Amino acid sequence: MKKIKRDFIFKQGNSGTPLIIILCAVHGNEPAGYLAAKNVISQLPSSNDFSIVGILGNIQAFHSNKRYIDQDLNRIWNIPSTPNTKNIIEFSEREEIIKTVKSWVAKTKAKEVYFVDIHSTSASGTFIIPSEHNNGIELLQYIGFPIVNGLLKGIQGTTIQFWQNQTFFDCPFYVFGVEAGQHQDPETIKNAIKVIEKMIEYVTDKKPQLPLCSTATYSLTYTHLIKENDNFVMKPGFQNFDYIEKGKTLAIHNNKEIPCPEDCYILMPLYQKQGSEGFFLLRLQDLSMGQ
Ligand SMILES: [Zn+2]
Repeated sequence: MKKIKRDFIFKQGNSGTPLIIILCAVHGNEPAGYLAAKNVISQLPSSNDFSIVGILGNIQAFHSNKRYIDQDLNRIWNIPSTPNTKNIIEFSEREEIIKTVKSWVAKTKAKEVYFVDIHSTSASGTFIIPSEHNNGIELLQYIGFPIVNGLLKGIQGTTIQFWQNQTFFDCPFYVFGVEAGQHQDPETIKNAIKVIEKMIEYVTDKKPQLPLCSTATYSLTYTHLIKENDNFVMKPGFQNFDYIEKGKTLAIHNNKEIPCPEDCYILMPLYQKQGSEGFFLLRLQDLSMGQ
């Protein structure tokens, strides 16, 4: 199979305008962001007002339709490269992503950068993960999907954590993540398309002057971690943002029932083999959004 180019699709506007970066398939079994970026950017009329580029994350895992080959590419961004990491596929993927992002910011002389990392999950439901600095919140509210704060507290080494703290660029650099829905659901691609279209409207100031609708905001209360050889089986039927009452059995972990510790909402119940978090629990923070 022909290897897809890292920056697989783009439209370049005038230099000194905003740059939108769509990072996708950081997990190789999550094609929605790739398909959405191809769909939107290929149909986009040329514009001088901004540049947009789709960047493929884990190319080798993408071709194998696997979450990762050697190590989870969305958990290693805090680990420095050493001679020992040289032969790990995801470390070379990471270096190439960094090089590609840098080259796009440099060649467009970007005034500001809007960077989204698009994922999908093994359960349905769409939401936005803001950076821990919570900047660019107006754009996230404009996109209109539920926002989950604090999710990164339970995870280390994600793309968002790396790029939110990058010191490569002087221009404003807004970073966020999107979970667009269930891996194979056609709605997931539509959700990813909506995110990209809204980003374009936002940066080109073509957003309709309508009052923004309210965005539900949740915050993380618990992360259920799984170790490499653990036996973890999620109970069937949970979807993102399902309300769960205290005491309900959520999973069987190493032959022990895991009850829900409090009334809460569930996020990303793990219905696939690869992954190091079984599920996350949330509380509802806010239904309004303060304009
Ligand atoms: Zn993912």
